[in-house]
Amino acid sequence: MPPPPPAKLPTRALFWDIDGTLLVTGRAGMIAWERAFAAFTGGRAFPAVRPDGLTDHQIAAWVLGNPSPYETPGEDEQTAVAGLVALYEAELAGALPLRQGRVLENVRPVLEWVKDARPELLSWLVTGNTLAGGTAKLRHYGLSEFFRSGSLADQGQAQAYPLAGSFSSRVEPRSNIVRRALQMAQARLPGLRAGEALVIGDTPHDIEGAHAIGVPVLAVATNTHSLDELAAHHPWHAVAVLPDADEFRRLVGR
Ligand SMILES: [Mg+2]
Repeated sequence: MPPPPPAKLPTRALFWDIDGTLLVTGRAGMIAWERAFAAFTGGRAFPAVRPDGLTDHQIAAWVLGNPSPYETPGEDEQTAVAGLVALYEAELAGALPLRQGRVLENVRPVLEWVKDARPELLSWLVTGNTLAGGTAKLRHYGLSEFFRSGSLADQGQAQAYPLAGSFSSRVEPRSNIVRRALQMAQARLPGLRAGEALVIGDTPHDIEGAHAIGVPVLAVATNTHSLDELAAHHPWHAVAVLPDADEFRRLVGR
Protein backbone atom coordinates (compact mmCIF):
# COMPACT_ATOMS: atom_id res chain seq x y z
CA MET A 1 0.00 0.00 0.00
CA PRO A 2 1.35 3.47 -0.85
CA PRO A 3 1.38 5.98 2.02
CA PRO A 4 -1.87 7.91 2.37
CA PRO A 5 -1.96 11.19 0.43
CA PRO A 6 -1.18 14.35 2.42
CA ALA A 7 -4.08 15.73 4.44
CA LYS A 8 -5.46 19.06 3.27
CA LEU A 9 -6.03 21.94 5.66
CA PRO A 10 -7.80 25.21 4.75
CA THR A 11 -5.57 26.58 2.00
CA ARG A 12 -3.28 29.59 2.52
CA ALA A 13 -1.02 29.14 -0.52
CA LEU A 14 -2.00 28.12 -4.06
CA PHE A 15 0.73 26.57 -6.21
CA TRP A 16 -0.31 26.61 -9.88
CA ASP A 17 1.13 24.49 -12.65
CA ILE A 18 1.02 26.24 -16.06
CA ASP A 19 0.69 23.89 -19.07
CA GLY A 20 -2.55 21.93 -19.08
CA THR A 21 -3.67 23.64 -15.87
CA LEU A 22 -3.84 27.38 -16.62
CA LEU A 23 -3.45 27.23 -20.38
CA VAL A 24 -2.53 25.12 -23.38
CA THR A 25 -0.18 26.40 -26.08
CA GLY A 26 -1.30 24.10 -28.91
CA ARG A 27 2.15 22.50 -28.65
CA ALA A 28 3.89 25.76 -29.60
CA GLY A 29 6.52 24.80 -27.05
CA MET A 30 7.49 21.85 -29.24
CA ILE A 31 8.21 24.20 -32.14
CA ALA A 32 10.56 26.12 -29.89
CA TRP A 33 12.21 22.88 -28.71
CA GLU A 34 12.65 21.64 -32.29
CA ARG A 35 14.23 24.92 -33.42
CA ALA A 36 16.47 25.05 -30.36
CA PHE A 37 17.54 21.42 -30.81
CA ALA A 38 18.36 21.98 -34.50
CA ALA A 39 20.48 25.00 -33.64
CA PHE A 40 22.19 23.21 -30.73
CA THR A 41 23.04 20.02 -32.62
CA GLY A 42 23.63 21.38 -36.10
CA GLY A 43 20.44 19.85 -37.45
CA ARG A 44 20.09 16.42 -35.85
CA ALA A 45 16.60 14.89 -36.06
CA PHE A 46 14.46 15.75 -33.07
CA PRO A 47 13.53 12.69 -30.99
CA ALA A 48 9.87 11.94 -30.29
CA VAL A 49 9.01 13.18 -26.83
CA ARG A 50 5.89 13.35 -24.67
CA PRO A 51 6.78 16.45 -22.69
CA ASP A 52 3.82 16.84 -20.35
CA GLY A 53 4.84 16.48 -16.76
CA LEU A 54 8.55 16.85 -17.47
CA THR A 55 10.29 20.05 -16.42
CA ASP A 56 11.92 22.11 -19.17
CA HIS A 57 15.36 21.00 -17.98
CA GLN A 58 14.23 17.35 -17.92
CA ILE A 59 12.95 17.70 -21.49
CA ALA A 60 16.28 19.14 -22.60
CA ALA A 61 18.20 16.36 -20.82
CA TRP A 62 15.93 13.76 -22.40
CA VAL A 63 16.32 15.01 -25.97
CA LEU A 64 20.09 15.21 -25.42
CA GLY A 65 20.08 11.49 -24.65
CA ASN A 66 19.48 11.05 -20.91
CA PRO A 67 16.84 8.28 -20.86
CA SER A 68 15.79 8.96 -17.25
CA PRO A 69 16.29 12.65 -16.35
CA TYR A 70 14.48 12.47 -13.00
CA GLU A 71 17.50 12.75 -10.73
CA THR A 72 20.18 15.42 -10.51
CA PRO A 73 23.01 14.70 -13.01
CA GLY A 74 26.59 15.99 -12.95
CA GLU A 75 27.72 19.47 -13.90
CA ASP A 76 28.78 18.58 -17.47
CA GLU A 77 25.25 17.48 -18.28
CA GLN A 78 23.75 20.46 -16.45
CA THR A 79 25.90 22.79 -18.58
CA ALA A 80 24.84 21.17 -21.86
CA VAL A 81 21.20 21.24 -20.78
CA ALA A 82 21.45 24.91 -19.78
CA GLY A 83 22.73 25.73 -23.27
CA LEU A 84 19.79 24.01 -24.96
CA VAL A 85 17.28 25.55 -22.53
CA ALA A 86 18.63 29.04 -23.28
CA LEU A 87 18.06 28.46 -27.01
CA TYR A 88 14.53 27.18 -26.27
CA GLU A 89 13.76 30.28 -24.20
CA ALA A 90 14.95 32.48 -27.06
CA GLU A 91 12.65 30.67 -29.52
CA LEU A 92 9.53 30.44 -27.36
CA ALA A 93 8.02 33.93 -27.63
CA GLY A 94 8.24 33.69 -31.44
CA ALA A 95 6.70 30.21 -31.48
CA LEU A 96 3.65 30.93 -29.29
CA PRO A 97 1.73 32.92 -31.98
CA LEU A 98 2.21 30.05 -34.47
CA ARG A 99 -0.28 27.81 -32.66
CA GLN A 100 -3.80 28.33 -31.37
CA GLY A 101 -3.75 27.75 -27.65
CA ARG A 102 -6.09 29.05 -24.98
CA VAL A 103 -6.61 29.86 -21.36
CA LEU A 104 -8.49 26.93 -19.83
CA GLU A 105 -12.05 27.00 -18.53
CA ASN A 106 -12.71 28.95 -15.30
CA VAL A 107 -9.05 29.91 -14.93
CA ARG A 108 -9.45 33.63 -15.41
CA PRO A 109 -12.55 33.99 -13.14
CA VAL A 110 -10.87 31.95 -10.40
CA LEU A 111 -7.66 33.99 -10.62
CA GLU A 112 -9.73 37.20 -10.55
CA TRP A 113 -11.60 35.94 -7.48
CA VAL A 114 -8.31 35.19 -5.71
CA LYS A 115 -6.88 38.58 -6.60
CA ASP A 116 -9.97 40.61 -5.66
CA ALA A 117 -11.57 38.64 -2.81
CA ARG A 118 -8.65 36.80 -1.20
CA PRO A 119 -5.53 38.97 -1.56
CA GLU A 120 -4.01 37.35 1.55
CA LEU A 121 -4.02 33.95 -0.19
CA LEU A 122 -0.61 33.34 -1.77
CA SER A 123 -1.12 32.44 -5.43
CA TRP A 124 2.14 31.42 -7.07
CA LEU A 125 3.38 29.54 -10.12
CA VAL A 126 5.00 26.23 -9.21
CA THR A 127 6.03 24.85 -12.53
CA GLY A 128 8.50 22.88 -14.58
CA ASN A 129 8.75 25.89 -16.89
CA THR A 130 11.77 28.10 -16.57
CA LEU A 131 11.14 31.62 -15.34
CA ALA A 132 11.65 33.05 -18.84
CA GLY A 133 9.55 30.33 -20.49
CA GLY A 134 6.69 30.68 -18.02
CA THR A 135 6.83 34.44 -18.41
CA ALA A 136 6.53 34.19 -22.20
CA LYS A 137 3.50 31.89 -21.94
CA LEU A 138 1.67 33.94 -19.31
CA ARG A 139 2.33 37.17 -21.17
CA HIS A 140 1.12 35.72 -24.46
CA TYR A 141 -2.12 34.49 -22.87
CA GLY A 142 -2.68 37.58 -20.72
CA LEU A 143 -2.32 35.96 -17.30
CA SER A 144 0.88 37.51 -15.99
CA GLU A 145 -0.99 40.23 -14.09
CA PHE A 146 -2.20 37.55 -11.66
CA PHE A 147 1.29 36.41 -10.71
CA ARG A 148 3.31 39.57 -10.30
CA SER A 149 5.98 39.11 -7.68
CA GLY A 150 5.23 41.25 -4.63
CA SER A 151 8.81 41.10 -3.49
CA LEU A 152 11.56 41.68 -6.01
CA ALA A 153 14.00 40.14 -3.56
CA ASP A 154 12.48 36.70 -4.20
CA GLN A 155 14.27 36.15 -7.47
CA GLY A 156 17.49 37.41 -8.95
CA GLN A 157 15.82 38.09 -12.28
CA ALA A 158 12.62 39.48 -10.83
CA GLN A 159 13.18 42.87 -12.42
CA ALA A 160 13.10 41.35 -15.89
CA TYR A 161 10.63 38.56 -15.11
CA PRO A 162 8.37 39.74 -12.33
CA LEU A 163 6.47 36.49 -11.78
CA ALA A 164 5.95 35.00 -8.33
CA GLY A 165 6.70 31.35 -7.82
CA SER A 166 9.12 28.48 -8.16
CA PHE A 167 10.50 27.44 -11.53
CA SER A 168 12.80 24.90 -13.19
CA SER A 169 16.40 26.07 -13.04
CA ARG A 170 18.35 22.80 -13.54
CA VAL A 171 17.83 19.08 -14.08
CA GLU A 172 16.48 17.81 -10.77
CA PRO A 173 13.45 16.00 -9.33
CA ARG A 174 10.25 18.00 -9.75
CA SER A 175 9.65 17.74 -6.01
CA ASN A 176 12.60 20.14 -5.49
CA ILE A 177 10.58 22.86 -7.25
CA VAL A 178 7.67 22.28 -4.86
CA ARG A 179 10.02 22.20 -1.87
CA ARG A 180 11.49 25.61 -2.81
CA ALA A 181 7.98 26.99 -3.24
CA LEU A 182 6.95 25.75 0.19
CA GLN A 183 10.08 27.21 1.81
CA MET A 184 9.52 30.57 0.10
CA ALA A 185 5.87 30.52 1.15
CA GLN A 186 6.85 29.72 4.75
CA ALA A 187 9.18 32.73 4.73
CA ARG A 188 6.20 34.84 3.68
CA LEU A 189 3.64 33.11 5.94
CA PRO A 190 5.46 31.97 9.10
CA GLY A 191 4.16 28.68 10.46
CA LEU A 192 2.61 27.67 7.14
CA ARG A 193 2.15 23.90 7.09
CA ALA A 194 2.52 21.77 3.97
CA GLY A 195 -1.17 20.85 4.19
CA GLU A 196 -2.07 24.54 3.96
CA ALA A 197 -0.54 24.72 0.49
CA LEU A 198 -2.39 23.29 -2.51
CA VAL A 199 -0.81 22.29 -5.82
CA ILE A 200 -3.15 22.60 -8.80
CA GLY A 201 -1.81 20.45 -11.62
CA ASP A 202 -2.73 18.21 -14.52
CA THR A 203 -0.24 15.32 -14.50
CA PRO A 204 0.81 12.39 -12.31
CA HIS A 205 4.23 14.08 -12.05
CA ASP A 206 2.57 17.10 -10.41
CA ILE A 207 0.85 14.82 -7.92
CA GLU A 208 3.95 12.79 -7.08
CA GLY A 209 6.14 15.91 -6.78
CA ALA A 210 3.70 17.54 -4.37
CA HIS A 211 3.07 14.42 -2.30
CA ALA A 212 6.82 13.95 -1.82
CA ILE A 213 6.79 17.27 0.08
CA GLY A 214 3.50 16.62 1.88
CA VAL A 215 1.48 19.08 -0.19
CA PRO A 216 -2.07 18.06 -1.23
CA VAL A 217 -3.15 18.32 -4.87
CA LEU A 218 -6.22 19.46 -6.76
CA ALA A 219 -5.79 17.54 -10.03
CA VAL A 220 -7.46 18.85 -13.18
CA ALA A 221 -7.99 16.54 -16.17
CA THR A 222 -7.74 19.38 -18.67
CA ASN A 223 -4.89 18.14 -20.82
CA THR A 224 -3.67 14.70 -21.85
CA HIS A 225 -4.33 12.77 -18.62
CA SER A 226 -7.82 11.45 -17.90
CA LEU A 227 -9.65 11.82 -14.61
CA ASP A 228 -9.16 8.10 -13.95
CA GLU A 229 -5.43 8.29 -14.66
CA LEU A 230 -5.06 11.17 -12.22
CA ALA A 231 -7.31 9.60 -9.57
CA ALA A 232 -5.07 6.52 -9.62
CA HIS A 233 -2.33 8.70 -8.07
CA HIS A 234 -4.63 9.63 -5.15
CA PRO A 235 -4.65 13.42 -5.28
CA TRP A 236 -6.71 15.11 -2.56
CA HIS A 237 -9.35 15.84 -5.21
CA ALA A 238 -9.57 15.30 -8.98
CA VAL A 239 -11.91 17.19 -11.30
CA ALA A 240 -12.59 17.20 -15.04
CA VAL A 241 -12.09 20.99 -15.24
CA LEU A 242 -11.11 23.68 -12.77
CA PRO A 243 -14.25 24.46 -10.71
CA ASP A 244 -15.90 27.86 -11.00
CA ALA A 245 -15.02 30.54 -8.46
CA ASP A 246 -17.84 29.63 -6.03
CA GLU A 247 -16.89 25.97 -5.90
CA PHE A 248 -13.18 26.82 -5.84
CA ARG A 249 -13.81 29.01 -2.76
CA ARG A 250 -15.49 26.06 -1.04
CA LEU A 251 -12.64 23.71 -1.97
CA VAL A 252 -9.83 25.93 -0.70
CA GLY A 253 -11.73 26.48 2.58
CA ARG A 254 -12.07 22.79 3.32
MG1 LIG B 1 1.06 20.71 -16.56
